[in-house]
Amino acid sequence: MNRIVHPGGTIGVLGGGQLGRMLALAARRMGYRVHCFSPGADTPTGQVADAEVTADYGDLEAIRAFVVGVDVVTFEFENVSADAADAAAEIVPVRPSGAALHITQQRAREKAFLADRGFPVTPFARVQSLDELAVALGAVGLPAIVKTAAFGYDGKGQHRITGIEQAETVWSVVGHQEAVVERVVDFACEISVVAARGLEGAVVDYGAIENRHVNHILDLSVAPARIPPTVAAEAGAIARRIVEALDYVGVLCVEFFVTRDHRLLVNEIAPRPHNSGHLTIEAAATSQFEQQVRAVCGLPLGSTALTRPAAMVNLLGDLWAEGEPDWDAALSLPGVALHLYGKDEPRPGRKMGHLTVLADTAGEAADRAIAARAVL
Ligand code: AMP
Repeated sequence: MNRIVHPGGTIGVLGGGQLGRMLALAARRMGYRVHCFSPGADTPTGQVADAEVTADYGDLEAIRAFVVGVDVVTFEFENVSADAADAAAEIVPVRPSGAALHITQQRAREKAFLADRGFPVTPFARVQSLDELAVALGAVGLPAIVKTAAFGYDGKGQHRITGIEQAETVWSVVGHQEAVVERVVDFACEISVVAARGLEGAVVDYGAIENRHVNHILDLSVAPARIPPTVAAEAGAIARRIVEALDYVGVLCVEFFVTRDHRLLVNEIAPRPHNSGHLTIEAAATSQFEQQVRAVCGLPLGSTALTRPAAMVNLLGDLWAEGEPDWDAALSLPGVALHLYGKDEPRPGRKMGHLTVLADTAGEAADRAIAARAVL
């Protein structure tokens, strides 16, 4: 179904989080209506959508009833079952497709897909038993990380192993399902590339964004990444080849490790706009969310040019430990943009919002973003 959905049409979003919220804000600015489907009520997406449906992703009747009222379906949350994507696709275009989602929502499948096509990935092995884990640790080497193959994000379901004697304990925690074992990469830095492919096959990318994680959760993103231009160009080329290999329609993000000798290893793919791309709202000619709207609706893709160097810091629930953060203090600093996602329970580790700062250089933007968060 190569149907184009023009402004005035209705976009159905599966998922209710902050990615859907920022997508909905971009879509509504462009004259679209947005309907949100998720198990929650008063969700970050639902709060800014035209309609919010609360039902389980496994409730295929509810999915069908939802998609009858929209012109195209997209995801802000990739762990929607293939059955739900298929049920939707019988009625309206689903972009990206359930097939792309199927590959990228399960780590083992995703890694196999990439490795089979010659993309550089972290050395890994798929394991289904304690015996296989022991063999895999021997093959990939120590220290290693064991990750559940399915449904992990922000480091959830990840366990580091430094000695073979820890295998049994770790397997008792993750071993109820397939897992992936990876060698710990001693990387120089982490980067990501947000890329998009349109309905007619046009492909664009936003260049390399530099990322710093704390406790496996993204903490700081800086664009452009402070890496050699040849490495950045290679990362962009790999991301574009991945969107093509997936026959993808929409925005996706490829996360990489950059090794100390400047090699790139793909860590994972997110089949949607990504936390590291939030800075494109202020810093790019077309934000990743507008780009997602354009791509899934079949409109021409927009320019990905960065207008200024930028940095983004996440605001996690931990910041609320001693009461409401001091918004006035941060907003009195020049060039600070505040994004809050409308979540009322600031739990530790929960993404509540972010700050973006534009500056003349990437380094200055990073310093000012960190300083702005510090005064909160
Ligand atoms: P992931 O959920 O796989 O993106 O992992 C979250 C973060 O954990 C990554 O962005 C890295 O900072 C860290 N990490 C994951 N896998 C590895 C690895 N094989 N070697 C080193 N660090 C890793």
